Amino acid sequence: MVLMTKRDLKSMDTEELELFLGEMGEPKFRAKQIFDWLHQKQVDSFEEMTNLSKSLREKLAEQARLSGVEMVKKLVSQVDGTRKYLFALENGSIIESVLMKYEYGNTVCISTQAGCRMGCQFCASTLDGVERSLTAGEMLSQVYAIQKDCGERIHGVVLMGSGEPLDNYENVLKFLRLINDEKGQNMGQRHITLSTCGLVEKMMDLAEEELQITLAVSLHASNDEIRNQIMPISKAYPMEKLLDACKYYADRTKRRITFEYALMQGVNDSDACAKELAKRLRQKHILCHVNLIPVNDVKERDFVKSSEERVKRFAAVLQENGIETTVRRRLGSDIDAACGQLRRGYLKKEG
Ligand code: SAH
Repeated sequence: MVLMTKRDLKSMDTEELELFLGEMGEPKFRAKQIFDWLHQKQVDSFEEMTNLSKSLREKLAEQARLSGVEMVKKLVSQVDGTRKYLFALENGSIIESVLMKYEYGNTVCISTQAGCRMGCQFCASTLDGVERSLTAGEMLSQVYAIQKDCGERIHGVVLMGSGEPLDNYENVLKFLRLINDEKGQNMGQRHITLSTCGLVEKMMDLAEEELQITLAVSLHASNDEIRNQIMPISKAYPMEKLLDACKYYADRTKRRITFEYALMQGVNDSDACAKELAKRLRQKHILCHVNLIPVNDVKERDFVKSSEERVKRFAAVLQENGIETTVRRRLGSDIDAACGQLRRGYLKKEG
């Protein structure tokens, strides 16, 4: 495919743009102009870059490309303003993104891959495996497109849509640096959360990047026996190893880790589980807190969400045992289930 062999300018930082333009025989300052169009003004085509000559715009269109996303569906919640989007990538793959409106600002949940290959039992995104990893430009485009659509500044990003961010490490890192660039969206790193199912080596690499982002780790169990049943990745990285990596990350970055814990009735939601979890986290002295999420129903799987009472009790046991705990509020309850359900429903209908 000719289209994919052209270099993607949206995924480049200013230095890479300078090199590319140098190869084209263009002066350096063009790189800054193009970066400004892409990441400050956030246009989608060379055509719109009106301070470049027409002949340069044509030359760019011949020799380069701009990765992007195209909106194919949008649902707006009447309850809380949450918006869920389906975007198509250039190759036709479909991804899902969500706008969440919080008092402190607008946050977007983006996908890092179309599908996922991690195989978590309770997650809809992984049912058909991974189609492909997204480029940095495609990740940025989700934020830019939503910002344009809602007409308000996007304040924060969570990498919690489909895909495993650390399974697409280089592109995700590039995305983090680009969205943080002061000449672009200039999003503060502290307003960015990266969620992982726990790829230990990559977590160790990430610790060395000197980023101020929040790391969320999908734990969902208090021991290996339970975790092995619901998360295949657990067999590669037992919990002791994972928690050691978390400890290293928190010590190295001085950033508090969020442990995600989806409560599933009869699977991982007993008082004994809460006590076991608290004990393990305390023993490791990890700077952390636990975020409880009543599991979202996935039609193809038969996990059932824990009752409200059970969630409260689980939280109370954790807190009594010295672990800071929050319960995630459910947003957009009137516009289809969360976590890959919208994408899956669409693919089934179209397919
Ligand atoms: N692959 C990464 C990020 C994407 S999933 C990760 O595993 O963290 C984002 C979060 O949604 C993870 O915590 C994941 O475990 C959780 N999740 C997936 N399916 C869910 C469901 N049905 N109910 C509740 N949380 C779910």
